Amino acid sequence: MVLDWDALLNDCIDFTQRLIQTPSMTYEEAPLAELVAAELQKLNFDQVWIDEIGNVNGRIRGTDPSLGALVLNTHLDHVDPGELSLWSVPPYSGTIVGDRIVGRGACDIKGPLAVQVYSMAALLRAGIRPRRDVVFNGVVEEEIGGTGAKYWAKNLDYPVDLVVLGEPSDNKIALGHRGIAQMWVQFNGRSVHASVPENGINPNYALAQFIQDVQAAKGELSAHELLGATSVTPTIIEVDTTSTNVTPAWARVCLDFRTASESLNSLREFVQRLVGDQAVLLEDAMCTPPIAFPEGHATIHGFYTPPTDEKVQRAQALIGAGMGREAELSRYQFATDGRHFVPYNLTIIGYGPSLESQAHVVDEYISIPKMAESLRGHVELLKSY
Ligand SMILES: [Zn+2]
Repeated sequence: MVLDWDALLNDCIDFTQRLIQTPSMTYEEAPLAELVAAELQKLNFDQVWIDEIGNVNGRIRGTDPSLGALVLNTHLDHVDPGELSLWSVPPYSGTIVGDRIVGRGACDIKGPLAVQVYSMAALLRAGIRPRRDVVFNGVVEEEIGGTGAKYWAKNLDYPVDLVVLGEPSDNKIALGHRGIAQMWVQFNGRSVHASVPENGINPNYALAQFIQDVQAAKGELSAHELLGATSVTPTIIEVDTTSTNVTPAWARVCLDFRTASESLNSLREFVQRLVGDQAVLLEDAMCTPPIAFPEGHATIHGFYTPPTDEKVQRAQALIGAGMGREAELSRYQFATDGRHFVPYNLTIIGYGPSLESQAHVVDEYISIPKMAESLRGHVELLKSY
């Protein structure tokens, strides 16, 4: 394959800087979508389109139309840069400092987006047609609930074999992340005037004991071999009364679980063991706006693709060959849009050149040598997957 890797990297860096210089906070992604679409046109993608919700897409056709597409997914939005004076360079400058590009979105997610786009461009430059269609998919509103990803998955009108998320994985292959489940646990009492507490039952005591018990028992929750330990933590506490001189009729606490190995049933059993018969689990009452998680015995995770999956093994071998070293398997600590693809039975992996620890921080950066390595990993994957 004849390809000028230096020129490819330089163009990819230049594109990353232009992406950073085009702010795209959630709901304000349109100018960035236009910039990306123009770039895909310029790079001679076979098809470029922006859908009704503002996601930008680009396709390179493969030689075998019977194969499902390889989809490279990133998002267009980023979080607020916060206090500008804390940054050592202006956050929307995309300044190169040493071997890093610095700026809001460099790591999450504009550097990885540029790598995805330019690895596709590399095939066109080298005159190589991939076996299957390769589709770039840049979605809106990832940072606040994934409306763009949900819309894309729901309206899919072509077969997809594998989705590669560009979320920061340090050039490892991320096979998933934990899911979230929340439940209210309520303790009922008998409300009386606070001057005669002995006449009532104050539920605050049972609630306080319960929170201590959760802290002591959290190690009993099971860990997932790859996705890590299940965590539990109390968040909001509420009582029914707003009067300072009345003991509450009830007190409740929201428990937030992050899990990859527990089910709703097993979480209920965990809570039930601690409270005995004195508390009420408010099963249908979520502590925050609705979070979808499976009922019953189904495992709660964000997404999880087992390492034994044949698609994982094929992708891992190709990416490793491209990078010239083994592609390690890994997982995400944070949540990604991958969880919105699970209901549609899509196979998902993560592979992106930046570091998860650089997401959403001041002086966010992406390493240029990591981008170079990722371009090689991606090109080999796209060419032969
Ligand atoms: Zn991200």
